[in-house]
Amino acid sequence: MKFAIMTKGDSKSNSYMHKMKTYLQDFELVWDEHEPDIVISIGGDGTLLYAFHRYSSRLNKTAFVGVHTGHLGFYADWVPEEIEKLVIAIAKTPYQIIEYPLLETIIRYQHGGKETRYLALNEATVKSVEGTLVMDVEIRGQHFERFRGDGLCVSTPSGSTAYNKALGGAILHPSIPAIQLAEMASINNRVFRTIGSPLVLPAHHTCMLKPVNGPDFMVTIDHLTLLHKDVKSIQYRVAAEKIRFARFRPFPFWKRVHDSFIADK
Ligand code: NAD
Repeated sequence: MKFAIMTKGDSKSNSYMHKMKTYLQDFELVWDEHEPDIVISIGGDGTLLYAFHRYSSRLNKTAFVGVHTGHLGFYADWVPEEIEKLVIAIAKTPYQIIEYPLLETIIRYQHGGKETRYLALNEATVKSVEGTLVMDVEIRGQHFERFRGDGLCVSTPSGSTAYNKALGGAILHPSIPAIQLAEMASINNRVFRTIGSPLVLPAHHTCMLKPVNGPDFMVTIDHLTLLHKDVKSIQYRVAAEKIRFARFRPFPFWKRVHDSFIADK
């Protein structure tokens, strides 16, 4: 089996990486940064997001596992003290694969040109470069509303505990193939009206945003922030691809939610 390790880059995470790499090689696993079967991320959720984007072109061939060096992570459930146990589990046990849905974002441009496609593990957001974001929101090809406000956030089920939660979105179990559209400070008065509630769309429903007053936007895809100019539309839907996590022991989602937001233990 081929493996790769990605770290947060700090000295603590790097020293765990060297230790794990040596142990795994002792078990005759092969270090391969280009075509790994398993990717171990050492750091936090941000490190796993980074690892996901690094290997997003080979999701059907790569499984991910996370070790957290700080507080409990949503994607990283192992602690550094368990590294030896994890190495043995990777080397000796046929692990279970858990799949989570992803978000597909397609950005099309006003003067033709090639569209851009992104996959997100947490969410994609859109904000204007300057002033209020004004976007027509279409769902399944039908006009739904004209949004005015700070921005919009479209999250995956596993990303629903991240930015989406801070926006008052619901927490969705990652076994549900859906995306959630949440508002950032919408303008609502007698003149302007938006739904005001987060919307959960099933896998076969597409959400399309069309600019009303300006074609340039700040788009985020997980931890990445990108300026897009001359935008004609931004389309969101549940991606055909999924992320695969290698599971060596139960890691129930609702326990993670409890331990992260209510109390640890
Ligand atoms: P960061 O360093 O600012 O960390 C953001 C925090 O979000 C960390 O505590 C991380 O553990 C947590 N987090 C990440 N994914 C999570 C998930 N799926 N569920 C629960 N918590 C999660 O940034 P980063 O580490 O590069 O992570 C980028 C993420 O930050 C984005 O995908 C977005 O979800 C999140 N974010 C949140 C807010 C907010 O809550 N207001 C604002 C901007 C970005």
